[in-house]
Amino acid sequence: MSFAEEAASDVPTLPGTHSGIPTYLLEKARKAKGGIFETRTKPRAERQRLPVVPQGIERDAFLQALAELKEELGAENLEVNDKPLTDGWYMEHPNTHDMMTILDEEELVASAVVYPGSTEEVQQIVAWANKHRIPIFPISMGRNLGYGGAAPRVRGSVTIDLGKRMNKILDINPEDFTCLVEPGVSFYALYEAIQAKGYDHMWIDSPDLGGGSVIGNTVDRGVGYTPYGDHWACHAGLEVVLPTGEVIRTGMGALPGNNTWQTFPYGFGPYSDGIFSQSNFGIVTKMGMTLMPNPGGYESFMYTFPKEEDLAPLMEIIRPLRISNILENVAQLRHVSQSIAARGLPRSTFYTGSGPVPSSILHAEAAKSPVGDHTWAYYGMAYGPSHIRAHKLALIDSEFRKIPGARKIDPSTLPADEYFWSRDRVAAGIPDIQELRWVNWTPNGAHVAFSPVSPIRGTDATALFELGKKRHEQYGIDFWPAFCVGLREMHLIVEIVFDRHDLERKTAALACLRDMVDDAARLGYGEYRTHLVLMDQVAGTYSWGDGALMKFNEKIKDALDPNGILAPGRCGIWPRRYRGRGWEMTRESGLVSEGRGVEMD
Ligand code: ADP
Repeated sequence: MSFAEEAASDVPTLPGTHSGIPTYLLEKARKAKGGIFETRTKPRAERQRLPVVPQGIERDAFLQALAELKEELGAENLEVNDKPLTDGWYMEHPNTHDMMTILDEEELVASAVVYPGSTEEVQQIVAWANKHRIPIFPISMGRNLGYGGAAPRVRGSVTIDLGKRMNKILDINPEDFTCLVEPGVSFYALYEAIQAKGYDHMWIDSPDLGGGSVIGNTVDRGVGYTPYGDHWACHAGLEVVLPTGEVIRTGMGALPGNNTWQTFPYGFGPYSDGIFSQSNFGIVTKMGMTLMPNPGGYESFMYTFPKEEDLAPLMEIIRPLRISNILENVAQLRHVSQSIAARGLPRSTFYTGSGPVPSSILHAEAAKSPVGDHTWAYYGMAYGPSHIRAHKLALIDSEFRKIPGARKIDPSTLPADEYFWSRDRVAAGIPDIQELRWVNWTPNGAHVAFSPVSPIRGTDATALFELGKKRHEQYGIDFWPAFCVGLREMHLIVEIVFDRHDLERKTAALACLRDMVDDAARLGYGEYRTHLVLMDQVAGTYSWGDGALMKFNEKIKDALDPNGILAPGRCGIWPRRYRGRGWEMTRESGLVSEGRGVEMD
């Protein structure tokens, strides 16, 4: 498909394709696509360094092995990655590479993509990878944007795209409020299925965008915005193919004939699920998820606060309210810079100079908006029937108003496309697509996140805010801090948006991220999740006891994956064959993702 054809084609929908958009969001998705393609200048480059062959196997042996796998799975279920790399966009994303690459686009690429249709076929692929010592990399949907998308960490890995053919909702239980899904089920699809069954007594929890896989997002410990926002905490039961090919079911799933796999997560014995999240120890082929009861009413609220310095006292107010569940969901405190960007207009609309958009311009823009001038905006939701909400909202109101100049925004004054309404839908478990808008800030907009965790305290929030601000100013990058407040901690999410066709801006973004990770670690803060390119650095900051935790992870890796075939390097965990050969990506290794070969048998 040519670029023009790609831009003109319609957005794929559910249920036509498992990764499609629900019809209630189709118009919005069409608009989003238009905006993205209008500002795209990055050409589709001629492919370089073809064929892509992973290190550790000769080219001919590799091509022979691919032919063998093709024979086993059927020709239509294996694609060699030798066509131009097509970035697409959120709803038509590639499964061959990171569409938002911060490196040269040929660095983190798959050699081929395979499409298993069952757990047995996943086992077959794993057996094949062990036989030929070929790295494989599982994805569910491949929309892990900002953290590497669909890209494998080791160049030339064979990507297992689980979602294309394994996308069934195996069970929705309206009495237990649980479901059981395969990797290709998106939040959009789960929401649609529950609506179609008329189960309006049950809610799902969705991240900001609903196109990700429920399994993919959960195993990477993603979050959403209802009281069930901690997806990992809300899952119940896994089916996993191990790197040596055996299948296990965790928790109650290990008991033949059980009827509690999705209702009691632990079973008996060690709780093994943890090692399958943010790791490379297994391929999840089924997962149970708990669903939230419809709370019988809800009401979004928004407060604004005038000054940057309001951050610290505000955190002191938020903490006790959040821990005692008066503030009931993973709410967001966003900086005005992001409120402006969320409108989806290019940065050049506001400012054409270099460096961050001056604060005076941001405030002038905010003053003209329906929300009015502010520095911080808090988005929250109260759940339950109105008399219960009223009690909580009154408490929140009296506390928030202790900040001079605090304003409660009346939702009835906000137009339908105001960002507030997107937060309202997401916090009510209705997946949306609006969050994508700020990617239009630059042409060829891509994003990568800095996501440190801290207690909900004024001193911590200020330290992280100052750290981020300083580095963004140094590298001339717009600073968009958003604090996502969990129960006893908060994630600061700073998305850096950059032009992925501009090497200088990409390099600046990566240098800024590397500095922030190190600065934060010096102060005792670590990231909760990170991009493939930063995984070695972030894993390296968790170094207590002379790297005792990583040594433990490596022991598990070597025991479970003796041939080191499954997602080598993911989350900084390198199998024995790769260690000591310069595979880690650090500031010193620059922009190169590959090391010096692997140990041969
Ligand atoms: P999403 O589309 O939900 O955002 P992805 O499918 O891109 O998520 O998955 C995010 C990351 O989690 C992937 O890069 C992969 O490393 C890991 N992952 C995804 N699905 C699985 C799975 N079924 N088993 C093991 N790891 C997985």
